[in-house]
This record gives sequence, C-alpha cells and structure tokens, in this order.
Amino acid sequence: MTSFSIHGVGVSSGIAIGQAHLISNALLEVVHYQLPMHLIDDEIKRFSDAIATVKYDLEKINSSLRKNAPAELSAFIGTHLMMLSDKSLSEAPKKIIQNEKCNAEWAIKLQMDEIVEQFEQIEDDYLRERKQDVIQVVERVIKVLLGHPSQLATEQQLSALSEEHKLILVAHDISPADAIQFKQHEFAAFITDVGGITSHTAILARSLNIPSIVALQKARDLIRDGEIIIVDGKQGVVIVNPDKNILTEYKLRQEQWELEQQKLQRIKSTKAVTLDGINIDLFANIEVPDDVTAVKAAGATGIGLYRTEFLFMNRREMPDEEEQFIAYKKVAEAMKGDVVIIRTLDLGADKQMNPDTVVTCANPALGLRAIRYCLSEPQIFHTQLRALLRASHFGNIKILVPMLSTLSELRQTKLLLERAKLSLRKQGVLFNENIALGGMIEIPAAAINAEAFASELDFLSIGTNDLIQYTLAIDRTDDAVAHLYNPLHPSVLKLISMTIKAGEKLGKSVSVCGEMAGDAKLTKLLIGMGLRQLSMHPSHILSVKQQILHSQMSALSANSRKILNLTDIEKIEPLVAKLNRIADLRMHPRP
Ligand code: PEP
Ligand code: MG
Repeated sequence: MTSFSIHGVGVSSGIAIGQAHLISNALLEVVHYQLPMHLIDDEIKRFSDAIATVKYDLEKINSSLRKNAPAELSAFIGTHLMMLSDKSLSEAPKKIIQNEKCNAEWAIKLQMDEIVEQFEQIEDDYLRERKQDVIQVVERVIKVLLGHPSQLATEQQLSALSEEHKLILVAHDISPADAIQFKQHEFAAFITDVGGITSHTAILARSLNIPSIVALQKARDLIRDGEIIIVDGKQGVVIVNPDKNILTEYKLRQEQWELEQQKLQRIKSTKAVTLDGINIDLFANIEVPDDVTAVKAAGATGIGLYRTEFLFMNRREMPDEEEQFIAYKKVAEAMKGDVVIIRTLDLGADKQMNPDTVVTCANPALGLRAIRYCLSEPQIFHTQLRALLRASHFGNIKILVPMLSTLSELRQTKLLLERAKLSLRKQGVLFNENIALGGMIEIPAAAINAEAFASELDFLSIGTNDLIQYTLAIDRTDDAVAHLYNPLHPSVLKLISMTIKAGEKLGKSVSVCGEMAGDAKLTKLLIGMGLRQLSMHPSHILSVKQQILHSQMSALSANSRKILNLTDIEKIEPLVAKLNRIADLRMHPRP
C-alpha cells in the first residue's frame, strides 16, 4: 500500500495514530432507476451478495480485534451484524425490488427511511439513537453496491499500532450538530475536507480534545475505511498508510507531546499573574453542562462563554423553560460562585437545530442568526430569559447577547429582559435582580461604535471568530477562503483595540472569547493591548497561562502599541513573534 500525505488546517494539536472511519455520504449518491422484468432476479442477487460482503467484512474486523480492544468497538460491530441479519434489512428490500422494479440501492434506502422513522417514534433516548446504527450499516451496504467498499487494514498494520487501536473520524463535512454527538464516542482524531479554522465544527472538534484537521479538501475520497492514518494536528498533516519507520517516528513524537502536556499540569493551580504582578482572568468556553468537568480540570477560574445553542440541537422541539433552567442551574452550581457567562441563543447560519435542515437563504452568515433570530421569535427568547433569570438565583450568572449590531437590538433585548423579570416577580420566583448584561462585539459596526454599547451594557466580550469573518469578508465555514483568515490583520487588531479602549474609558470589563484567546502565540499581544480577561476552550488554559507567567507587562504594552500602529500584516507577524521572544529572553537570560 502506498504511503502519502495530505495537508490541511490544523485546528486542534496533538498526534493520533489509528484506523480511518469514514463518515460516508454514500446515501447522497443513491439514484433511482427502473429495471426491466428480466433483470429483477439479478438485482435481487446483487443485493444479497452486498449484504453477504458487508457481513463478511464486519466479521473479519471483529475477529481481528485484539483482546484489549475497546469493548464498544466490538459491541458496535455486533449491533451492525445483528441488524444485517434482521429480515427488515436483509429481506424486505428484495420485496421492494420485486414490487417496484427498482435498483437495489434505492430499495434499501427506502427501507432504511421507514425503519429510521419507526426509531424516531421511540421514547427512550438510547433506543431512538440506534437509528444511527441503521444508517451506518445501510451506508456500508450501499457503498458495496456502488462499487466502493470499505477497505480493511492488514493484520501487519494493526499489530504495528499501539495497544488499543483507535478510530479516526474522516468526513467530508460534519455539522456542529453531528460533531456534538461525537462527544459521546471515543475517537482518536477528527478530520474533514471542508471547514475553516473558526467554523463551529472546528470549535467543536477542538472541544473533543483530540487532534483535528479541517480543509483537507479530498481526504474523504483519498482515504479508505480501515486504512491506518497518522494525524498531526499541530502541523495540519495526515499521513496515510505510513511505513514502519514513520510510525515509529510519530509514536515518539506522540510520547513527547503527552509529556509536554503533563509538564503543563504543574501550573494548574498557579495564579495567572505576569512577572510584574498583573492578574489575568482565564475563563473557559463550554458547550454543554458536562464540560464543567474539563473546566475544573484545567483550573479555569470562571466560564466566559457558555454557548447555549447546543442544548437546542439534534431535536425537533425546543427545550422548554424547565429543561433550560436545569441545565443553566447545573453549571452555575458546579462553578460554586465563580463567574458563569451564559450567552443567549446563537442559532442560525451553520448552527441549525436539526442537522438535516436545509438553509435556503443566500448568505446564512449575514442572515437571521443570534440576537436577530431571538428578537424575531420573542416567545422563544422569553422562555430562555426566564430560565436564565431563575438559574441566576443559584450562582454567579451573567447574560451575554451575541451579534449585536445596533443599539436598538440592545434596547429591545433589555425590554424583553425586563418583561421576563416582571413575569417572575409576579409569580414570586427568586432571581438576581441586578444580573449583569453583556454584549458580544463581533460585527465591525459594533466595534466601531463600542463606546455606545459599553455605556449601555455591564461588560463586553469580543467574539473574534465572527469579528474576523465579517471584517475580512471570509465565510468561517468555507475552506476555499480559510487561508485568508488572519487574526493579525491590522484592521482586526484595530477593532479589538477600539473595543478595549471603549471599555477602559467607561469602566466596563472587556474580554475576548473567540478562538484568538486560546492561541498561546497571541497571548502576549492581547494582554499587551490591555485585555485582562480571556476565555477559551479548557484545553488551552495552561499553555496560555504559561505565556502570562513569562510576561513583563511594561515591555508588552510598549511593543503592542508599536504593532497597532502598523498597517502591513507582513510587518506585524515578525513583530508578534519578536514580542513572544522578548519576554522569553527576560525569563531565560542568555549566559
Ligand atoms: C466568536 O464569534 O468569536 C464567538 C466566540 O462566538 P461563536 O464562535 O460561537 O460564533
Ligand atoms: Mg460568534
């Protein structure tokens, strides 16, 4: 097997070695055609042969699993084998071929749709989710029918792997709604053909805490199911079918990486203070209440961004007030009085409730998302605001509003917040009357007008992912323009600086909660520009803290000012690299 490499954009560091698990879009390739009577028997045989091939493949994988392979892997294969033996999958499609005189792919897809619909009626969450297994097993059959079956790794390759051989998810694209589901599974890495560095899928990939690469363009076509691949998340490289020497080399690098991560653990309880005594708040971004465990493990001192929209995904009905209240209260209580900034619903664009939803507007990123959506659906917003207020009685909750572009949106939000408060007061329900209200600065219009927003809000939080998207006019989800993403663009830095200054002038705190905050290469620049609060994925807290511990604020401020005066990105980049080196030299003076 020939070895080759593919290059993309690394979005989460680390090295993983494992077997490719292709998330297929074979279902999309299925077409419908009619067959003449004399070909029906052959078509039924073609169908039976495909089922037999998939069974054989799965049994082969099962018997090649070593004793210490993860139990879920063999359970997963066992379930698929069982489903293939069930008459509803192995026999019913034959009748469809016979009756409708259609091709085998179409018949099994029709049958799958019917089974999936039945699964969706099931009340039990676990059983309902088994519909995914039906889809996956049918995809395998369709792949065989379409003539591109799954490829299995050789015994030799498997034995070259580490103790437990892990699966690496390979997909053309994964919606954030799908990605959040992968949180429940043990994958070693995550790679996709499309997606930009700050797409929500990439953010989710990062939150899975496994090496991830996006924008690989043709990975899904080039890599076959079961092949051994190495994912180097830092370099953004995937090596397919590595030979023995490359495998050994990467296993070594993997060990080194893990060692570095362990070393960072030593500063977990150290306060994030610069060499000259300036304290920086290092907060965490979360997507679901269970992420609090990772927040605590990373030693974050608060939650700077709780993206509530993930509670609304993968379902047909909105969560009611009680369900939302329970989720928000759980986070507030778990943080025991530490700040918990909860963002109101940011649905729309690439974050849809149901992954199957087809977005029909021409420019979803410029469409009805976030606060615009909430203001157009006041009842949904009212329910969330009531849930947030009720939860505020149980911890230190602050409310954050996404995507503000005009003061009128802010004023409408305040009115709706007052209305929610009033309804709770009338019912005698306790909540924090003085709950702080913050706004996200993620549209250039808001950054330019930051003083006005600061004067009507309690705090500001800069969402650099969207701020960069809208300033540089690059769709976050479009890999074709991913290379244009650059947080060091002078216009981006100027907008951030304007926001910081507005906060300073009006005595309101300003933080960054976009992906920039978690990039340790930018930490010194950001704190040099005046930021005292950064919120990021928990896995970045320690590397960012290490930068802060090595920083001398006086030197950083002067140099950051010089950088802000530059207009050419090519001059900015080397100066930021130099800024990182200056402080390092102070820490480790040359002999
Ligand atoms: C941002 O835009 O930077 C941000 C933090 O919000 P999100 O990534 O959820 O859009
Ligand atoms: Mg945003």
